[in-house]
Amino acid sequence: MGKRKDIIIIGGGAAGFFAAINIAEQHPNLSVAILERGKEGLQKVKISGGGRCNVTHAEFIPSELVLNYPRGEKELLGPFHTFMTGDTIAWFEERGVELKIEDDGRMFPMSNSSQTIIDCFLSEAKKHHVEVLYNHSVKSIDARENDFSIESSQGEFECNKLVVATGSNPKIWKLLEDIGHTIVQPVPSLFTFDIKDKRIKDIPGVVVKNIEVKVLSTNLVSEGPLLITHVGMSAPAILKLSAFGAVELAKLNYNFKIEVNFIKQDFESCLDQLKDFKLGFAKKTIVNSTQFDLPKRLWKQLVLASNINETERWADSNKQQLEDLSRQLTEAVFQVTGKSTFKEEFVTAGGVHLKEVNFKTFESKRIPNLYFAGEVINVDAVTGGFNFQNAWTGAYIVSQSINR
Ligand SMILES: Cc1cc2nc3c(=O)[nH]c(=O)nc-3n(C[C@H](O)[C@H](O)[C@H](O)COP(=O)(O)OP(=O)(O)OC[C@H]3O[C@@H](n4cnc5c(N)ncnc54)[C@H](O)[C@@H]3O)c2cc1C
Repeated sequence: MGKRKDIIIIGGGAAGFFAAINIAEQHPNLSVAILERGKEGLQKVKISGGGRCNVTHAEFIPSELVLNYPRGEKELLGPFHTFMTGDTIAWFEERGVELKIEDDGRMFPMSNSSQTIIDCFLSEAKKHHVEVLYNHSVKSIDARENDFSIESSQGEFECNKLVVATGSNPKIWKLLEDIGHTIVQPVPSLFTFDIKDKRIKDIPGVVVKNIEVKVLSTNLVSEGPLLITHVGMSAPAILKLSAFGAVELAKLNYNFKIEVNFIKQDFESCLDQLKDFKLGFAKKTIVNSTQFDLPKRLWKQLVLASNINETERWADSNKQQLEDLSRQLTEAVFQVTGKSTFKEEFVTAGGVHLKEVNFKTFESKRIPNLYFAGEVINVDAVTGGFNFQNAWTGAYIVSQSINR
């Protein structure tokens, strides 16, 4: 016979702690334990947001918020009506943690330290008598007729209700598969594109405010800021593509072509403007008369890539050169040859199949009294605080469902 608890939560990460605290707070008569394999929990919270923890995003309309989830968009709409950004802010505020909004909508603790979130969780867990058992790696899950038996590295446990909040952990996915769940195979999401190209080789750090980018031979398209890096391209325009295209780009083995429209105009209207510049700026060298609000260093590279040399003036340019320049500005093709991790923020697409989770309760549709929260489900988001919001929402709804 293992040690008996009313509720066991496997995984002491973001979703695990949030679920445990809310269950214990709402149900002081239940015994609640977290089994965490690490010697500490909340390790991802600690390193998240560059050590500041981007807790959520200042988007308060559920139908807008869901647009940030390449997997989970449809399923999270209902749950966000129950618990979303405003509730997250209030939850933390009620427990003494104030959050602030940055210009781009990301929300952080006022202290600018993820430790504030960790301290809050640890003290709330203690206050509500959540037993946090570290160094307890779960090895097997047995779903019996009326309860669960769990084997950990430090002995057996039994519980009436089980919450799995183990993030993107392949071993737990395998255990879930063994007890009847379908696991969508994991692939990386949120990555930057590796590009070796003369046009961007010498200009790392250049930012373009708003571009449009397409992956050729697919329907993938996105827009937003672009950052040229030492190894290729990054920033929201690229990260959104990597998240929404996670499965498709994996199939292409991260070898594909993208077409960048640096100025978000079509080829013809750009060409017309270049012809006007030819008349208006006839005596100026083309390289030195940056247009379209582009960074000077990028403009220069695109001009040179259009067979226009450094000394050529607008008056000297011919039709072919202007067409080439218009093409570089509006339809520049780059070969992507691989991917790199974005600020170590590896997020994984994949996990428990969305069809097998009841999103009103976050309970398994296959196994009664089994619940999921966080990244263990096939839900993931673009960068900006949305991944944590998914963890808080799922975990909160689990706590409410267990109440019933
Ligand atoms: C570097 C980095 C920065 C990030 N920054 C942000 C950010 O600022 N904002 C944002 O929204 N998202 C961010 N993310 C994503 C975010 O961290 C995750 O989406 C979130 O942590 C998922 O929460 P979770 O509880 O589902 O999983 P996790 O937080 O990964 O927790 C899972 C827990 O389960 C435990 N576990 C696993 N297997 C077992 C087992 N067999 N037995 C017992 N315990 C087990 C793990 O040790 C872990 O503690 C970041 C991710 C990374 C890697």
